[in-house]
Amino acid sequence: MKQSRLFTKTRKEAPADEVSKNAQLLIRAGYVHKEMAGVYAYLPLGLRVVEKIKQIVREEMNAIYGQELIMTALQRKEIWEKTGRWDDDTVDVWFKSELKAGGEVGFGWSHEEPIAEMMKNYISSYKDLPIYVYQFQTKLRNEVRAKSGIMRGREFIMKDMYSFCIGEADHTTFYNATIDAYKRVFERLGIGEDTFVTFASGGAFTQFSHEFQTITEAGEDVIYINREKNIAINEEVLTPETLTELGITREELTEVKTAEVGNIFNFGRQKAEDVGLTFKDDSGENIPVWMGSYGIGVTRLMGVLVEKFADEKGIVWPASVAPYLVHLVELSNGDTDLKDYADGIYNTFKDNGIHILYDDRDVRAGEKFNDSDLLGMPYRIVVSKKTREEGKFEVVERKTGEVSYLTEEELHQKFINMDA
Ligand code: ATP
Ligand code: MG
Repeated sequence: MKQSRLFTKTRKEAPADEVSKNAQLLIRAGYVHKEMAGVYAYLPLGLRVVEKIKQIVREEMNAIYGQELIMTALQRKEIWEKTGRWDDDTVDVWFKSELKAGGEVGFGWSHEEPIAEMMKNYISSYKDLPIYVYQFQTKLRNEVRAKSGIMRGREFIMKDMYSFCIGEADHTTFYNATIDAYKRVFERLGIGEDTFVTFASGGAFTQFSHEFQTITEAGEDVIYINREKNIAINEEVLTPETLTELGITREELTEVKTAEVGNIFNFGRQKAEDVGLTFKDDSGENIPVWMGSYGIGVTRLMGVLVEKFADEKGIVWPASVAPYLVHLVELSNGDTDLKDYADGIYNTFKDNGIHILYDDRDVRAGEKFNDSDLLGMPYRIVVSKKTREEGKFEVVERKTGEVSYLTEEELHQKFINMDA
């Protein structure tokens, strides 16, 4: 992508009402546009990050036999009434509206009930199970607080997966497979070390649910961890009973601030019973399906990555989700020959499938470098008169600031024939 063609521009200041670091940086760098509190548009650079996060999640969900689909944003009232969750006193984040033709609709804040209802069309016998489905969906939630930038949106992208099994044994196997898949996702996003499978409050059928909590000062949660024993407990379930059960003492735990990046739930047979989703077992008896649900906050994760890795100069993306791996910066300053040379490098990289952003704009070097730091691509390659004369390119790693001077061949070795 040539930066001269990118319609977004960097800016010195974020909107005065934007208090969170992730949104301030993302707005200044032109990744997102703030439409209103808790509602953000994803611009071309931002969309590439979202898509890369989604692709990592997609690959890991497919690997455990998840099948991707997409449910609807508009939802029927009757479905939610079956489980008692249409009521605003029970679910306080509903957005609702009325159809001109008459009747109320809800805007999907979750898809647990609609998906269970829909599955009645596809599940009738034990032979139909298990089924695992997932989607990437824009969830709409009327959140009271929206001060964490894209980490708590009123409109945000979630990956939600649902499992339908004949009984507890199969459910548990899949539940554990999902925990492993989630760990791989967070590993690939570069936050594996700081993300904990955390005991949290369970709900009606299980004592605990599991949250995936990532350490960050920008998080809204508080958990208690012990790295050696690999135990993490949400403050909401930090009771003497929990400690005894997990075989740990309060003194062995350290308090940390975290953001919940994922959440997994066991519904038992309750949800299916409420909506009437049953299968016939081998004796012909009708039994409610055993269900689970598994969320990942895609756009929240993007915010978490900004919060965790940004430095005083701007954003620092992990290579796995950076919109572009390489930021090529030419300092031709009117020298058309040097410009042509830089164009050639850009085309070679692009033709070899390297995701490359090319700052071909006619602006000062200082401005280009500042923008490059703010945008946060993992590697910057500088083409200048001086380095060209030496037959070298300056390569700067954004994360470490480490500078190296590479020949064109070494450059190809590093980026194009990476595993050669
Ligand atoms: P929280 O406790 O943060 O309010 P939740 O428990 O309501 O979240 P779920 O309904 O389980 O969350 O949603 C699954 C995931 O979606 C969460 O783990 C989180 O990463 C993400 N998420 C939830 N609410 C929001 C939001 N308002 N904005 C962005 N991401 C969100
Ligand atoms: Mg939660």
